[in-house]
Amino acid sequence: MNAGKPDLEPWEWPEGEWRRRVDRVRAGRRLRPAEWPGGARCAVALSFDSDHETSDLRDGGNSIGRLAWGQYGNRVGVPRILAVLAKFQVKASFYVPAVVALLHPDEQRRVVAEGHEIGIHGWIHELNSALPADAERDLMRRSADTLEQVAGVRPVGLRTPSWDFSRHTLEIERELGLAYDSSLMADEDCYELLLDGVPTGLVELPVEWVRDDAVYFMMNRFQSLRPYTPPADVFDIFRREFEAAYDERGLFQLTMHPHIIGYRSRIWILDEIIRHAKAHQGVWFGTHAEVVDWAKRHAT
Ligand SMILES: [Zn+2]
Repeated sequence: MNAGKPDLEPWEWPEGEWRRRVDRVRAGRRLRPAEWPGGARCAVALSFDSDHETSDLRDGGNSIGRLAWGQYGNRVGVPRILAVLAKFQVKASFYVPAVVALLHPDEQRRVVAEGHEIGIHGWIHELNSALPADAERDLMRRSADTLEQVAGVRPVGLRTPSWDFSRHTLEIERELGLAYDSSLMADEDCYELLLDGVPTGLVELPVEWVRDDAVYFMMNRFQSLRPYTPPADVFDIFRREFEAAYDERGLFQLTMHPHIIGYRSRIWILDEIIRHAKAHQGVWFGTHAEVVDWAKRHAT
């Protein structure tokens, strides 16, 4: 890390060292519009990370059982999600690893044909911070090209797999000419990303673990990880996040996964949160790309 210097422990770092690390990627200008399209007071941005089989492939791909769980995401999860979105006529964003796009090209074409956005979600759901910069750059380029070839639309946004953002990710996003990232959590409004203190023009549409279905529902048969929050309580958390965003005239963003939210006992959460939001006056639903574009052009 410090060329020519012995590695120091964090408590030994000079001020310049911890400042350099903190300042690498930082939240800059807040991008909160006075109102959303059509005079709406609140924006709803729904997203689905279609990880499917890459949840296991990225760990070696040795578990037929976990690969089957991933296939459920394609066979049952995505169709069920698309049916709910179509019923309410709302648009959403799907983040898709390139390997998933190659395994399930018809799914991606259907998602785009139904008016939704597809964004980059790594090659095989690899962790960016574990990669050399050159490998990360190569995989991100190939991922963008693959999604474009499969779905017919060049992606404009990236969600890093597992929200794992390396010290090189923002630089690579800028090289690729992306409009936005959706992996960081420095705010609840969109903001401009700073690289080493310099504004990049790239917008962050922030996520949060609290608005992610995976943290409430994940389980591991052979470890102690179990779902610890009942579906009704997960809905209650999401509803409160929406209510506060509505009161603040802000943005309500949600992250879900086809192989997690797609079950019969859970899909109602998506149905009900859309119904609940639509029961309020002045709520606009947009893809992440649409939200970013509006926020950037109308920030006060
Ligand atoms: Zn993912």
